[in-house]
Amino acid sequence: MAEYKKPTTEQEYLDNFAQKKPLMNPTEAYYESSRCLFCYDAPCMNACPTGIDIPLFIKQINTGNVKGAAKTIFDSNWIGNACGKVCPTGVLCEGACVYNGQDVPPLQIGRLQNFATEQVIREKTPLYAPGPDNGRQVAIVGAGPAGIAAACELRVMGYTVDIYEAKEKPSGLTVYGVAPYKITNEEVLDEMEYLQNQMGYDIHYQSPITTKEQIADLEKRYDAIFLGVGLGPTATLGIEGENLEGVVGAVEFIEELRMQKHKVEVPKNVVVIGGGNTAMDAASESARMGAENVYLVYRRSKDRMGAYGFEYELAVKSGVKGVFSAQPKALLGEGKVNGVSFYRTKDVNGKLEYGDETFTIDCDMVIKATGQAKMGSFLQMIDGLELDNRKRIKVNLESYQTTNPKYFAGGDAVNGGAEVVNGAYEGKQAAKGIHAWLNAL
Ligand SMILES: Cc1cc2nc3c(=O)[nH]c(=O)nc-3n(C[C@H](O)[C@H](O)[C@H](O)COP(=O)(O)OP(=O)(O)OC[C@H]3O[C@@H](n4cnc5c(N)ncnc54)[C@H](O)[C@@H]3O)c2cc1C
Ligand code: SF4
Repeated sequence: MAEYKKPTTEQEYLDNFAQKKPLMNPTEAYYESSRCLFCYDAPCMNACPTGIDIPLFIKQINTGNVKGAAKTIFDSNWIGNACGKVCPTGVLCEGACVYNGQDVPPLQIGRLQNFATEQVIREKTPLYAPGPDNGRQVAIVGAGPAGIAAACELRVMGYTVDIYEAKEKPSGLTVYGVAPYKITNEEVLDEMEYLQNQMGYDIHYQSPITTKEQIADLEKRYDAIFLGVGLGPTATLGIEGENLEGVVGAVEFIEELRMQKHKVEVPKNVVVIGGGNTAMDAASESARMGAENVYLVYRRSKDRMGAYGFEYELAVKSGVKGVFSAQPKALLGEGKVNGVSFYRTKDVNGKLEYGDETFTIDCDMVIKATGQAKMGSFLQMIDGLELDNRKRIKVNLESYQTTNPKYFAGGDAVNGGAEVVNGAYEGKQAAKGIHAWLNAL
């Protein structure tokens, strides 16, 4: 079990958050790419949500055509560099590689992908240019992976694109949410700059769209609107003590960590409540910030957690202790949190039951990681925009057109919360949907 010293400098922070997938050098990339069997109907490619031609780009790396490899990747996925680092490759492309059936490690597809894309980004090699101006304008709300992918695709087709973004930086949760040991802020932002420099879309930062007047204005000024707004803040637990000092939402905690790095104060004893990937990240990150005791508490058994097994293993290796079958009853303390009381739970035929038995874990901080709220109130301001019973935007799954024909949508706001690669795919598809719709009018 790892024990991390509290980082006091940026270097110590970077050491504690050392990259899980470091960049390959050319020799490593050459040897790794030599292992590829260039399978017909490659299962790795079929497992990629964006359908990158993986055997082709691996072959291009192997024959020294790194620029061509990067183009193959970006042709399918505009967020190709970040995806190489942050995708759960073990359950996608690498999980599907034929070597898994032969007791041989699968190709390191994510790292090979980065080998190619990092080089063109670092060398600022142009691979794309905007298409001839077609006289039409599209507004995009949200500069996350979905919004950026839609913008790139629309620019190639000659649209003028303006992105309205609430925050100060592009890429959404890629820079504000993903665990820092998967990708650095610089890596995320370098890719964003590389894309914007080539594609020439405008991003209006700190420009949240929040009122009906703003929505009406966008509708007047643009031919189509893409919604890539993602999800909202951490959902509340609805129990006593949530307003105590030291009780924070996981998404907000991680955002502060990514922006403030070693300057974030994480106390000695932390309780993280939840069983999804965000809970695993928040727990691992607390341990890497020097917390001595990090308890990850989930209401059901370990095997019922929503998180990927490898994310839980990583948290445990960072020093996190799992506590299962425990439902939070109340957050304790006066002014400041000093513990959490839990009910012991039982899973009876899939139904969670609990009686009077309770126990308490003492702590100085509680991180709630029980999901993100949806953007319901914003979305309800748009006339004719239907949401499903889980408050996700309803779309046609080919064109990503919503029930208000002028609006298209993709990413977490549509899929309810998936991965960067899904946002990249849906943004690109929606751009094609916008093009098809405007050209049919
Ligand atoms: C803690 C955490 C860790 C994650 N780790 C991973 C990981 O390791 N790998 C992975 O692939 N995925 C991960 N994900 C999921 C991934 O980050 C998301 O699926 C992806 O970012 C969704 O892209 P999006 O464009 O739909 O939304 P977002 O990335 O959320 O971007 C939406 C953007 O819209 C802006 N916005 C919202 N409302 C408005 C408005 N009204 N006006 C203007 N702007 C607005 C927001 O500020 C934001 O920039 C993680 C998610 C979280 C929460
Ligand atoms: S499945 Fe593995 S060996 Fe086959 S093409 Fe894909 S990466 Fe290469």
